[in-house]
Amino acid sequence: MGSSATGRAYLDHAATTPLRPEARDAMLGLLGERFGNPSGSHLTARRARAVVDECREAVAEALGAQPGEVVFTGSGTEADNLAVLGQCRSPAGPGGTAVVGAAEHDAVLECARAVGGRVVAVDADGAVDLDALADALDESVAVVSVMLANNEVGTVQSLEPVAELVARRAPRAVLHTDAVQGCAWLDVAVAAARADMVAISAHKFGGPQGTGALIVRGRARPAPVILGGGQERGLRSGTHNVAGIAGLTAALRATTEQRAATVERVGRLRDRLADGLLAAVPDAVETGDRARKVASNCHLRFPGVESEALLFLLDEAGVEASAGSACASGAMEPSHVLVAMGVDPAEAVSSLRLSLGWCSTGADVDRALEVVPEAVARLRAGAGVAS
Ligand code: PLP
Repeated sequence: MGSSATGRAYLDHAATTPLRPEARDAMLGLLGERFGNPSGSHLTARRARAVVDECREAVAEALGAQPGEVVFTGSGTEADNLAVLGQCRSPAGPGGTAVVGAAEHDAVLECARAVGGRVVAVDADGAVDLDALADALDESVAVVSVMLANNEVGTVQSLEPVAELVARRAPRAVLHTDAVQGCAWLDVAVAAARADMVAISAHKFGGPQGTGALIVRGRARPAPVILGGGQERGLRSGTHNVAGIAGLTAALRATTEQRAATVERVGRLRDRLADGLLAAVPDAVETGDRARKVASNCHLRFPGVESEALLFLLDEAGVEASAGSACASGAMEPSHVLVAMGVDPAEAVSSLRLSLGWCSTGADVDRALEVVPEAVARLRAGAGVAS
């Protein structure tokens, strides 16, 4: 929530964003007497089935797909796995390898690694380098995966030229896009119209955690990665999470209806935040070209400051954010995204991602503008984290 609700400035909406009231209402209605298993045949089961069917239609409409092309999954990760791993093991063909961008989320990168796939260079903003992609494509490629918007730096990838290249150079391949971060901010029906598979995750746009969906259309014929009772046309076995699917659908509907206004409002807040910090913190650097980013992303680097220490001070002062780096075996590991973009590893560990969401407020921005420059100054002065 915004700081008025919690007393803290939550600026980590790219990690997860609060449940929208529309999603909560839709879910609560399914957590009591309406409890059926949609795979059954009696009335209670059929009622649950009707909920899932209605949701499938609504999700299809919002994403520019047909209802029969929607596969509900247990997360965005699972949707990406089904697309990348599944297509490489397609029952409809001889299989093949995966080609993915170097700035993809691990949900895609790890699948590509598992099949010995090819990782393609990205440009200085994190978008796939089209020449490098062209070089990596050939007859042996089963799936190409290029994300719609990057989770760390927010860069949006135009899928049109990617689809053109895939059609020309890898005639057997299908195009998958991880739209997990794009869905809140971009009209997926338009932006991903050329993709054969599209992954979304509810908790990034105000639905519940642990629910996602994959659009499967065109020539895409992924083999299931979860085997069992054959739900979701055999593509994703497991009893449906009916309340979760209803929450995902309600959140997607609200997101779609309000998107234009939210993008406009949040984009202005983000610009005030980014411009304010760039002005207030000496030597601050903005990562990536803002004009290519989703409206919610503010990614900055503060040379000389370790993000882990900065996040600690921010948390203490009531500002919740994240960094594009992880602490592995005692040493700061720079984010693979920033390294792929050509950011110096020493500088990559000084990054801060402030991500806004549908319920972000001006008070969140005010709080960050007050707290971040002070924390950076304190760390640079050597005061560091209180011992
Ligand atoms: N893809 C991207 C770009 C993401 O940002 C995330 C989550 O951070 C995922 C996939 C995984 O989604 P989920 O958290 O639903 O498993």
